[in-house]
Amino acid sequence: MRRWDAVVVGAGPAGSATALLLARAGAQVLLLDRAQFPRDKPCSEYLSPESTRVLQRLGTDVLDDVAAAAPAHLTGMRVVAPSGAAAIGRFESFSYALPRTKLDAILRDAAESRGAEVRERVKAEELIYQDGAVAGVVARETKTGNREAYRAGVVVGADGLRSVVARRLGRVYAIGPRRIAFTAHVADVAGVHQLGEMHVGRPGYIGFGPIGNGVTTVALVLPIGEARRGERFFAELNRFPGAAGRFDQRRLVRRVLATGPFARWSRRVVAKGGGALLVGDAADFFDPFTGQGIYSALRGAELAAEAILRGNLQQYARARRHEFTGKWILERLIGIAVGWPPLIERVVGRLIRRPELADLLVRATGNCIPARRALTPAVLAGLIA
Ligand SMILES: Cc1cc2nc3c(=O)[nH]c(=O)nc-3n(C[C@H](O)[C@H](O)[C@H](O)COP(=O)(O)OP(=O)(O)OC[C@H]3O[C@@H](n4cnc5c(N)ncnc54)[C@H](O)[C@@H]3O)c2cc1C
Repeated sequence: MRRWDAVVVGAGPAGSATALLLARAGAQVLLLDRAQFPRDKPCSEYLSPESTRVLQRLGTDVLDDVAAAAPAHLTGMRVVAPSGAAAIGRFESFSYALPRTKLDAILRDAAESRGAEVRERVKAEELIYQDGAVAGVVARETKTGNREAYRAGVVVGADGLRSVVARRLGRVYAIGPRRIAFTAHVADVAGVHQLGEMHVGRPGYIGFGPIGNGVTTVALVLPIGEARRGERFFAELNRFPGAAGRFDQRRLVRRVLATGPFARWSRRVVAKGGGALLVGDAADFFDPFTGQGIYSALRGAELAAEAILRGNLQQYARARRHEFTGKWILERLIGIAVGWPPLIERVVGRLIRRPELADLLVRATGNCIPARRALTPAVLAGLIA
């Protein structure tokens, strides 16, 4: 039986980027996905500005393909409190926003063009162990039902929020606040320009922004106990004062997709006995409010590929802690604050009076500056005192 250097499970941003980097370095890589591409993914489809640099490192052709896919260019974020009061934070540069059908297909194709073998409609189900270490995966072709074992030097679990690989490696923690999301594409939304918008309400929040060609991507995020509200998607959007009347239900151009609950954390990102690691949402995902998931998936892929190529998987766990700890804390704080409307009202009031703090916060969540710069006592006091 053929033994691959790496089998990557999941061809989202995390898996495709990892496969690309490994294949480019000469490794024999098999990239599996249960879906057939182009495939959709519930997402607000905004790439934080720092993602551009990672795409460039993946290959100038990759960045060129993204730039050629007619993406929207976002120059900042508008954060709207439950009362309708709004603060704007600006990036120093801009970020791309484009449908995941396009972005993920570009990354998947780029991995293939570097030599990774891609197999779609193949769902990983079990891990193979040898001498205590992960040594491959067993996967099933979804069309035929045929099961096959794929042996590998390393298995990369990049299979997203409900990762099979993560669950097989150990405990996956569900952490609060538990939320669920409904996403859609709507054309000709009034007043949408070059900003992403986050509107906090009681309960939940909505996020929307342009993704090119006159289309706006919209996400309605609700506490899990309020999930039934998602059935009245457009009525729910109108509940937010800053969004009311801006969406025309007849201009829905992609059906509403649901996902969640999210906020989960894998106890182990590297298998105890070696031979496997987790990257992207399979490793951890808190809340979409800050829009850092794609960046984390791409940057995590860089860290994972580096560790695999050095033959030192433990280095990956350390590198992730070093790289992401500030981001995790900031993301958690914002995720909790969003569930507390009076606090958001207060913070937005401060941000309106102190636009430099709004810029700082938006740049920290956009990964343009280290998250720790937004976590100093002076900044935190400025936001709430
Ligand atoms: C509502 C919402 C809005 C968001 N908005 C943003 C945003 O604006 N910006 C941002 O940066 N992030 C956003 N995110 C987060 C972002 O979508 C994720 O962080 C990102 O997709 C993670 O990439 P990934 O490659 O880890 O996983 P995914 O993109 O989920 O890819 C996982 C892949 O694995 C495949 N797979 C799953 N199970 C198996 C299996 N058993 N075998 C084989 N293949 C499998 C799937 O088909 C899929 O292709 C949002 C998330 C949500 C829920």
